[in-house]
Amino acid sequence: MVIKTAEFVKSSGKWQECPEPTMPEYAFIGRSNVGKSSLINAMMNHKDLAKTSGTPGKTQLINHFLVNENWYLTDLPGYGYAKVSKSIRKDFEKLITNYILNRRNLVNLFVLVDSRHTPQKIDLEFIQWCGESGIPFSIVFTKADKLKPNVTIQNVENYKNELHKTWDDLPELYVTSAEKKTGGDEILNFIQITNEF
Ligand code: GDP
Repeated sequence: MVIKTAEFVKSSGKWQECPEPTMPEYAFIGRSNVGKSSLINAMMNHKDLAKTSGTPGKTQLINHFLVNENWYLTDLPGYGYAKVSKSIRKDFEKLITNYILNRRNLVNLFVLVDSRHTPQKIDLEFIQWCGESGIPFSIVFTKADKLKPNVTIQNVENYKNELHKTWDDLPELYVTSAEKKTGGDEILNFIQITNEF
């Protein structure tokens, strides 16, 4: 998919405040620092469309971008901050889960995980919840350039094995690097072929 236009639409503090669900929507989520803003910017061919969240846990807003005037890209707040209070964490989980469960134009959720790490509990729990809730989602490995290709492949295999402990059918998996601008095209292809509303 060629990105002709990508523009910021609005930030919402509640799922009810999101733009009218008149177009197909694709959302991106992951732990803080996973590389979400970098990947969004790389895919959109834009330096700073998605802002990297200087202070983790501070910006807990849902950001909508309109792409090619016919689909929404949603940048969800990062989950799993250790350093915020329990009540903030709860509010914020509610924001994310309400958005995911209620947003009726959501076609797919891309769950980002750092390709360098072994499967993390918080990501596995979130993936488990997506599966149990019947949310269409894919897993996106980030920062693939940081490891040797064969190590990345092995880490992805390990991740699959971990998921197979619970699930027979696995979601789509993407291996990406914002730095090298790889993997984003596959995600955009998927968006293009599923972008019918
Ligand atoms: P976010 O908090 O998930 O939005 O993460 P950012 O996009 O701000 O990235 C967090 C850090 O990881 C930054 O220092 C980025 O420069 C770095 N980073 C993000 N993506 C990549 C990547 O593909 N390769 C490398 N080497 N570094 C990356």
